Order: sequence, then structure tokens, then C-alpha cells
Amino acid sequence: MRKQILIVGAGFSGMWAALSAARLADKNAGQAVDITVIAPQPELRVRPRFYENAVRTLVAPLQPLFDATGIQFLRGTVSKILPASREVSWTDADGETRLHRYDRLVLASGSRIDRSQIAGVDNYAFDLDQLESADVLEQHLKSLAQRPESAARNTVVVCGGGFTGIEIATELPGRLRDILGENAQTRIVIIERGPQPGARFGEELRQVIAQASAELGVEWLINAEVATVNADGVMLKDGTTIAAQTVIWTAGMQANDLTKQIDAPRDRQGRLHVNADLQVVGFEDIYATGDVAYAATDDKGNYALMSCQHAILLGKFAGNNAAASLLDVAPLPYRQENYVTCLDLGAWGAVYTEGWDQQVKLTRAEAKKLKLSIVSELIYPPEANKTAAFKIADPLAPFV
Ligand SMILES: Cc1cc2nc3c(=O)[nH]c(=O)nc-3n(C[C@H](O)[C@H](O)[C@H](O)COP(=O)(O)OP(=O)(O)OC[C@H]3O[C@@H](n4cnc5c(N)ncnc54)[C@H](O)[C@@H]3O)c2cc1C
Repeated sequence: MRKQILIVGAGFSGMWAALSAARLADKNAGQAVDITVIAPQPELRVRPRFYENAVRTLVAPLQPLFDATGIQFLRGTVSKILPASREVSWTDADGETRLHRYDRLVLASGSRIDRSQIAGVDNYAFDLDQLESADVLEQHLKSLAQRPESAARNTVVVCGGGFTGIEIATELPGRLRDILGENAQTRIVIIERGPQPGARFGEELRQVIAQASAELGVEWLINAEVATVNADGVMLKDGTTIAAQTVIWTAGMQANDLTKQIDAPRDRQGRLHVNADLQVVGFEDIYATGDVAYAATDDKGNYALMSCQHAILLGKFAGNNAAASLLDVAPLPYRQENYVTCLDLGAWGAVYTEGWDQQVKLTRAEAKKLKLSIVSELIYPPEANKTAAFKIADPLAPFV
């Protein structure tokens, strides 16, 4: 019987897992391995760009690429993982519930923002976590122009001063000017629990963030925690209220809920512990990758982050190793020594860092140019050509 590799999810890690598995199967031609991806859409949704305008356009089609590389795509959603019988239960595009058998399962179902921690977030806050919610935010921002002028209309509160919070906050002065007019008195406030702007980052990076924020007029409220979000804005734990018609929640990412169905250790973010081959601890036939994997990147104690940069390479290794285990080929232990960041800072430019200590290498226009090439080229799917796609699907091919 033909062996089945099933990949759940068609994001950065799922797409690359499928291509990498297909590459290895192709190299070992004659061995019968089918590679199938189940996901709600045959498209890559470019989440790192969801702070931008025109969010509906930030998708790339995957069906031509899958067709060119012999990967089967099934449109649907997996609801149950049944490790004992090596099956998943999934619902297809017509709403039919079906079973799919696997010999190797690659879980690549991503993450979502946790909106459940603070009262009122679910009802009143926007987020830019998924295409649909980022689009709701975009339409809301555009609609502000039709509302009566007030301080609350012109104020946006961004809850959380991590990368996502900073990217949307520094983008907003320009976007709000486009919507409300050049002379609108806008106010953008980042609420940060830590003791300084960018508190969770290295010293050099913090200074750049503080400088860019000051030049753009983005305010930081530090040592501050949101108590509730309501129709009028936010209330902080110290009782301060900020009237705002736009509150954006960016804090707290959690691995997709399918991880809970596997009886294996998980980290604080719900990610499954994996070994160097990216097999879930205790489950030789299940691999976890991307935002659902808690994976060591080196021997120095660093772990993959919920980031596109890690998801891409984790995907290549997971797919390769799932196929290797069926083809009698030695697996490749996952390694990703290099860590870089490239943070968009709106009209100020961007900042590029290298290393886990985030040494600043480029700023302003130079870093912005790099950021644009990363988010509009590097992270997009390869062309729908088998030779070209397989070349970069190799886990050992050069990548940042
Ligand atoms: C606003 C924002 C900005 C970001 N900026 C950056 C950045 O600058 N740099 C960076 O490196 N990273 C950034 N990230 C993080 C990055 O986008 C994620 O780490 C990356 O998308 C993870 O890839 P993934 O394949 O694990 O998951 P995803 O890309 O989320 O893909 C998950 C896939 O699984 C599918 N899926 C989910 N549930 C099921 C199910 N039950 N059945 C079947 N399919 C399912 C989804 O439809 C999707 O196809 C950002 C994220 C956000 C939201």
C-alpha cells in the first residue's frame, strides 16, 4: 500500500513541509509515498504583513505550486487527531466529515492570538492576527472618516508593545493621516507592561524603537496593564482611562488547539515539545512544525520563536524527516543558528538586527529596503516549477 504523509495546514511551515517531503520522495523515485495537505484554503496567507493596508491582497495561491510538485491538496479543516488508528477526522468544503489515514502526520496548524485573558477584548478590541480580523480592522479604520470628529475617534490604543504592536503603531500615523486628513490631531498609544519602550528587546534595539516612536509621535505608556476594554476605550489597572474608538489587541499568542489532542508535553504557549528530528515527544509518527513546535534551534539554549523565519525552516526539516522515515533515509536534525529580526517602523524606516542579542546592523531607509524584500519576496512561495521549488525546499539550502 502507498504510504501517506498528511500535513495539516498550508501556512509557511505546512507549505514548506509538503515541498520538502515531495522533494525527498522525488529523489527516491520508485518509492510510493503520497503527500497530502489539508487546509481551509489553497493559499498562503502572509500574516507578517497584516499590519499593512489592502490586507485582502496579502495572499499567494498554492494550487499551481502543489500541482507542479505532485502534492495533493484537500480543502477542509481537521477537527480530530486519532493517533491510535493513525487517522484524522476532517470536514471538507461541503461540510462532510471524513477520515484520512496517515503513516506520518505533520502538524502545521499555526497559532492564534489569545483574546480571552482580559474582559472586553473579545467584544471591543480589534486584532491583526488572521486575514479576516485584520480586514475588519482595516474597514473600521477607513470608516473613522465618516464619524464625528472627537479625541476618541482620533485615538488608537495598541495593547502590547511586541513586534506586532510596534509595527501597527508606527504604521498608523501615516494611515490615519490618509484617512482623516493631514491636519487631524491623532493620538497613538502603546500600552506596555514593561519598564521602558520595547522592554523585551536588547538595549540597542530599544533605543532605535524609542527614537522612531518619538519622531513619529507614537506614545508609550510603560509599566501599564490593561484591566478592561469597553465601547469607550480602555481602563488600565491603575484606574487610568483612555477614550478611544479603536483598541487593537496584540498580546499573547497560543498554538493552534489541535496540539491539545496529542498527549505530549507542551510549553506555555501550547507548543508541542519535539526532538531534533521534529517528532513530537513520545510520538514517532507525528511531527510538529512552525508555531505549534517547541524546538531547540541550537545547543546554546535557544528555541524557535513563533515567527515566519523559524516556521519556514522548521517546515523544511519536518517534511524532509517525515519522508525520510518512510524512505529509509537518515533524518536531518533541525538546526537554525542564525537569528535576525527586521522590524518595520512606518515612515521612519525599519531596523534590522542580527543574533539573539539583537545587534542593530541597519536602520531607517536601508533597513526598510531589506524589510520590503523580505516580506514581499523572500517569504512568498516559490514559483510553480518543480525543479526550482525542490531546490529551495532542501532543508540545507541557504536561508537566513
Ligand atoms: C500581524 C503579524 C505580524 C507578524 N510579523 C512577523 C514578522 O515580522 N516576522 C516573522 O518572522 N513572523 C511574523 N509573524 C509570525 C508569523 O506570521 C507566524 O509565525 C507564521 O505564520 C507561522 O507559520 P505557521 O505555518 O506555523 O502558521 P500559519 O502561517 O498561521 O499557518 C497555519 C495554517 O494552518 C491552517 N489551519 C489552522 N487550523 C487548521 C485545521 N484545524 N485544519 C486544517 N488547517 C488548519 C491555517 O489555515 C493555515 O493554513 C507575524 C504574525 C502576525 C499575526
